[in-house]
Amino acid sequence: MTRPEKIRCDACPVMCYIAEGKVGACDRYANEGGKIIRCDPLTILDRRMAKGDEIKPFLAADWDGQTATGDDVVVSAIGAGTTYPDYKPAPFIVSREIAGIDCVTVVTEAIFSYCGVKVKIDTDRHLGDEASLVRANGEVIGHVMTSEYGSQMFSLGGVDHLTGGSKAEGRATCDALLRLCNKQAVELSIDGGSTVIVQAGQPPIVDGATEIRMRVGCGSATIGMFASQWQGLVDEVVVVDDHITGVVSEHQAGKVIDWPATGIRILGRRSTPGRYFKVAGPGQGWGGTDIDDPLTILGPWRSEKGARSGLRLLMVSTTGEHAAYYVLNDALEPQEQSMPDHLQPSVDLIAQNCEAALCTVLFMGGAGGSLRSGVTENPIKLTESVKAAHTTVTIGGAPVYRWPGGGITVMVDVMDVPDGAFGYVPTPALVAPLEFTVERTEYRQFGGHDAQIRDLDDVLETGGEFGADACVIGAAE
Ligand code: SF4
Repeated sequence: MTRPEKIRCDACPVMCYIAEGKVGACDRYANEGGKIIRCDPLTILDRRMAKGDEIKPFLAADWDGQTATGDDVVVSAIGAGTTYPDYKPAPFIVSREIAGIDCVTVVTEAIFSYCGVKVKIDTDRHLGDEASLVRANGEVIGHVMTSEYGSQMFSLGGVDHLTGGSKAEGRATCDALLRLCNKQAVELSIDGGSTVIVQAGQPPIVDGATEIRMRVGCGSATIGMFASQWQGLVDEVVVVDDHITGVVSEHQAGKVIDWPATGIRILGRRSTPGRYFKVAGPGQGWGGTDIDDPLTILGPWRSEKGARSGLRLLMVSTTGEHAAYYVLNDALEPQEQSMPDHLQPSVDLIAQNCEAALCTVLFMGGAGGSLRSGVTENPIKLTESVKAAHTTVTIGGAPVYRWPGGGITVMVDVMDVPDGAFGYVPTPALVAPLEFTVERTEYRQFGGHDAQIRDLDDVLETGGEFGADACVIGAAE
């Protein structure tokens, strides 16, 4: 008996030979009955349904000819497939009317070698020094960027990690990016720092502990917010912070309400009155410092500047997670006492004002390369049209931020993209659904593949080169 021949998928440079009933290396294409098909259905976004509504199969056989018409129904690139090489017209070029204007949406599952994710992790805890390497499965896939206001930023992926290192590095990078973009959890370890589990829309898990709160502000900001509420309840407040520690009696927020001096001395670099840098090293302790005992940031109290026996001191962190109350003894040494009932609500108020700590993942990719040829025979015209905001770019139907300057470099919050929209090819590179929408007259003018334009009804009735099934999901405005 002769075995059926393998057939070749030509949707990406890997050019897999696929046996009957099997899938290719990316799991996106299969050989079904001697024909290459796209395994996932083409996804139609319907804004008349609520975002996240259940996926509804939309098969040509059940189609009543009415359901998917109108401004609110969009063919996304999810499940559309990829054409390769790029000069072939994109898999679907669909005409649709938007606010009475004849428009065209060009959809393709774009293969991105130039892509990565920017990750924002809401935590006070120090995850690692700026520029430290970030690893997944032991391979370097990115680095720590800046600390932002209550968050730490990572840059992961990018062409250098996908293509410029070892095969293992490229694979680990692609795998981590894919999972992050598809809203799955990925464990990342930072050289010289922590291990953090990152998942879009979920709290970070730092060294096994789930982060609950995002800081209310820096130490100085916390003083600025709550100084008047502490007045009369306590004689001094120090908000301990790895970046800017605040001291109410010296801070302008205290001065304007005539807060008396206390003779406190902070061991750190004084920036401006009541604001101190570098009171300790970065770490997992109070306010993102490496201290567990806040008294270590205090020097001897000065009686000539107002220190006295019985002076009451509150020390608190920027999330309210850590707080302690002290009273100076006769030797002007702080003695810890239980938190008075009248002071606890002010600590609770800090905690109440903290937002939930989350991970945010933004996919970032360069769509200004050869894939433009699937849209137009004159690629620079597409770039110019995008820059002029005549052509709208979306990823899986989600609006993108386009970076100013050259090229079509875009970013999108993966939480706005339907689940499972991202794929990969083992070159390695990420596959992301990409749609360009433009008025039909301009599409013609900039050399678009006019002969390949089809209407939505035809797409639903006859599908595309790689299959006919579609599904409909609810989409945000
Ligand atoms: S990796 Fe996927 S897209 Fe590329 S040739 Fe193989 S099956 Fe086709």
